[in-house]
Amino acid sequence: MAGIYCHIPFCKQKCNYCNFYSCSNYNDFDELIKSEIVELNLRKGYINNEVVNTIYFGGGTPSLLPIKYIKEILSCIKFEFKVSDNCEITFEANPDDLSEQYLFQLYSCGINRLSVGIQSFNDKILKILGRRHDSSKLEDIIQIANKVGFNNISVDLIFGVPGMGLLLYNDSLTRVLQLDIKHISAYALSVENNTYIYKQLINNTIKELEEYEVLDQFNLTIDRLSENGFYQYEISNYAKEGFESRHNSSYWESVIYLGIGPAAHSYNGFSRQWNISDIHLYCFNVAHSKLFYDIEFLSSFDKYNEYVLTGLRTSRGISIEYIKDNFNNKIYKKFSEEVNRLVIDDLIIFVGDRIRFTRRGIMISDYIFERLYFFS
Ligand code: SF4
Repeated sequence: MAGIYCHIPFCKQKCNYCNFYSCSNYNDFDELIKSEIVELNLRKGYINNEVVNTIYFGGGTPSLLPIKYIKEILSCIKFEFKVSDNCEITFEANPDDLSEQYLFQLYSCGINRLSVGIQSFNDKILKILGRRHDSSKLEDIIQIANKVGFNNISVDLIFGVPGMGLLLYNDSLTRVLQLDIKHISAYALSVENNTYIYKQLINNTIKELEEYEVLDQFNLTIDRLSENGFYQYEISNYAKEGFESRHNSSYWESVIYLGIGPAAHSYNGFSRQWNISDIHLYCFNVAHSKLFYDIEFLSSFDKYNEYVLTGLRTSRGISIEYIKDNFNNKIYKKFSEEVNRLVIDDLIIFVGDRIRFTRRGIMISDYIFERLYFFS
């Protein structure tokens, strides 16, 4: 099985916390989609004839695309690849772009999973984040999406935002739980260099939350979502049983995938590739048969680190036997010693042959990854 990711790197405006590659002054949809279709043709051998089980339109903001382009990409994928009958096809959307007509057209062209970037139900927080939507129509949009036929909707939330108290965040959780949705991604805000929010923090225009406040919000997320039937199957992802994101799960399970479009990543078990993060250069190089990606071949240390990073993020955790069988003694020895210490510290637990985070461990996952990584 394999996945295909289509990157649509346009945004109407840059959000204050975003450091993804996206372009806000580009609207040549024709040129980009033509290039992505050429790339699909050029790279159809990449996934080795595997059946495509998931397709994901991510961004940027895919919901800025007129429907005809989505149809073009989907028909190219269906023509060039073997696509499973029950392929999960996810589409990321900004709430502001979702009219009833657009939602209906998305559903009619085969999109069967909608991921809506709500982020918060509070206008003050949305403003701090620099989002272009407000909270007034969020419930209506989800209701309309349900009405046109979407029964697999995911919503994104962000916590740990400057100015966000526990009660205010709790309010967003209450409102999200009233929606007819099956999946919630809830991320702690990560402040990256070169973002507007970073500059504001440096200039003391806004104040970062204390670490304990962010942890309280994380704990509240886990508690309230699990009380309401959403189980935490990955550090930041919660689903009703059977509605886990198949596409994202495949990243965590090392399934091969082809990423097309500027800045998109691909993985085939031996190497990772990432396309040029420049829309103009990407289109030019694709059109002129020039190289449009970089490639990195994975060493056994890289593969071990990736297995730990991706597997331990999930509720299934990672297999001790797998590490013993697939990596050398040096790696296995260091891994076993660290695991024993982490178990004593109540940061991970054994479940049969596997280990996974305890609740305490989930809260400080980055620290645990650092301890388990192997640097050659
Ligand atoms: S919509 Fe998404 S990709 Fe675009 S600027 Fe905002 S966070 Fe970044």
